[in-house]
Amino acid sequence: MKITFLGTAGSTMSKERGFPSILVDDNLLLDCGEGTTQKLLKLEKMGSIKTICLTHLHNDHFLGLFSLLWHYWINKRTEDLELIGPEGTKKTVETILELINTPQDMMSSFQVRYKELKPANKSASVQDKSDLTYASVDHRIPALAFRIERDGKSSCYTGDSKPVQTVIDLASKCDLLICESTLPDEMADFAHDHYHFTPSDAAHLASESDCKRLVLFHISSFFANQMDRFKQQAEKALGKSVIIAKDLMEIDL
Ligand SMILES: [Zn+2]
Ligand SMILES: [Zn+2]
Repeated sequence: MKITFLGTAGSTMSKERGFPSILVDDNLLLDCGEGTTQKLLKLEKMGSIKTICLTHLHNDHFLGLFSLLWHYWINKRTEDLELIGPEGTKKTVETILELINTPQDMMSSFQVRYKELKPANKSASVQDKSDLTYASVDHRIPALAFRIERDGKSSCYTGDSKPVQTVIDLASKCDLLICESTLPDEMADFAHDHYHFTPSDAAHLASESDCKRLVLFHISSFFANQMDRFKQQAEKALGKSVIIAKDLMEIDL
């Protein structure tokens, strides 16, 4: 399994980082923040995307979907696209398409096939997807974490959340944990009040769920020049090295 980080910023974009999106092998996207289309064009992976999983419907995690769909429609994509997300995904996406004057019937070369996932307090399977499981996380609005198993390897992506038991279970013994770490340890109370992790929270999740490797993701762009501090805080809590996600970084599992 190959993981390519397309966008890694938290909350706002920065000079170096775009909004969240992670490419798994060359056919699955986890989140689709603004800028995803251009990153896929750069990597020449536009034609191979079959499935997009949205963790939640905050603007930084899914507004790139509209330029991606627009690109596919203009270029006459013929293969249907599967869009998996929390309850409300279909209505939200279709409403935005309508508001931006892109009604579905104008774009008839392929269909978006929606699959909305019910809240799940323990790890649940996704219908017809043997490589994908998910669980609800705690982010004030409906939000999901995903786990992918391919070729005997596993990775888990928390999406946005504050620390919660469901994700400890979902991430159990995975090879790669991609954990949001929006705010530094000294802002833990503020982070939890705003439904986010700190680096030490990410480290505790990695150790409680016994994950092999930890990637810190979605670090707030207010701390763009303090990434080393996030790394040190997580490494101190975990007792081994952690990786800071960067746009276009690749990890082979
Ligand atoms: Zn976010
Ligand atoms: Zn969010």
